[in-house]
Amino acid sequence: MLHIGCHLSVSQGFEAMGKNALGIGADTFAFFTRNPRGGAAKEIDGADVQALRALCAEYSFAPLVAHAPYTLNVCSADEGIRDFAVRTLCDDLMRMEALPGNYYNFHPGSHTGQGAETGIALIASALTRALPLAEHTTVLLETMAGKGSEIGRNFEELRAVIDAVGDWNSRLGVCLDTCHVHDGGFDIAGNLDAVLDEFDRVIGLARLRAVHLNDSLNVRGSRKDRHAKIGEGEIGLEALCAVINHPALRGLPFILETPNELSGYKSEIALLRSRYRE
Ligand code: FE
Ligand code: FE
Ligand code: ZN
Repeated sequence: MLHIGCHLSVSQGFEAMGKNALGIGADTFAFFTRNPRGGAAKEIDGADVQALRALCAEYSFAPLVAHAPYTLNVCSADEGIRDFAVRTLCDDLMRMEALPGNYYNFHPGSHTGQGAETGIALIASALTRALPLAEHTTVLLETMAGKGSEIGRNFEELRAVIDAVGDWNSRLGVCLDTCHVHDGGFDIAGNLDAVLDEFDRVIGLARLRAVHLNDSLNVRGSRKDRHAKIGEGEIGLEALCAVINHPALRGLPFILETPNELSGYKSEIALLRSRYRE
């Protein structure tokens, strides 16, 4: 079974996202936990969340992959930005408890000139505060393109975060973004096996819990992070079909973050389902 979906807008409500997902052939989806500027999140409507949970159970959805606001930076050099990010992370994880058994993905952060080592230590300290709140959620570190001072440009940096978190890291996983690893220099288009072998050696495939399935506008190693539609970028349709069919990735939720409206997502989901080998 291929579990695939896309980003949906949370402003329509939780059950509506589930119905929207069904309408485009999805059986998982992603949503931003609050608007990207990181303002106050809307009060969660208990009945609405219950209705989504019932829908997900009825249609055997894979875990949902919530996404933190992409402006969240728990390792900024600015203490105010950092504190705000940690409070947001904690608040999001408390809210995620209303949707038990799902994933919460976040960008590890940008060290903004302090160096990777300091950045990693700050991320670990944020997670040490936040993870105890994630009783029924697995928190995912996203692999990043390495734009600017992003942490997570290679697997070693994510491994270092996981190690620095200590015991609470049983609640940590990784979300692999195909555009980001390609832009980060990994040959996901030409040698997927080697990339996954390296992931396994450095982090361990058991930590890999979700995939962001995107093509890339730029060449490998560009560190640009500009997503393209499936088959319209430098990774290409064949390589992305190899990703969904790779034995090591079977059963994971695949989330499209391609520049699309709902109808475009619907066609990409249909295309990828047609290329999936049961
Ligand atoms: Fe992301
Ligand atoms: Fe992503
Ligand atoms: Zn991206």
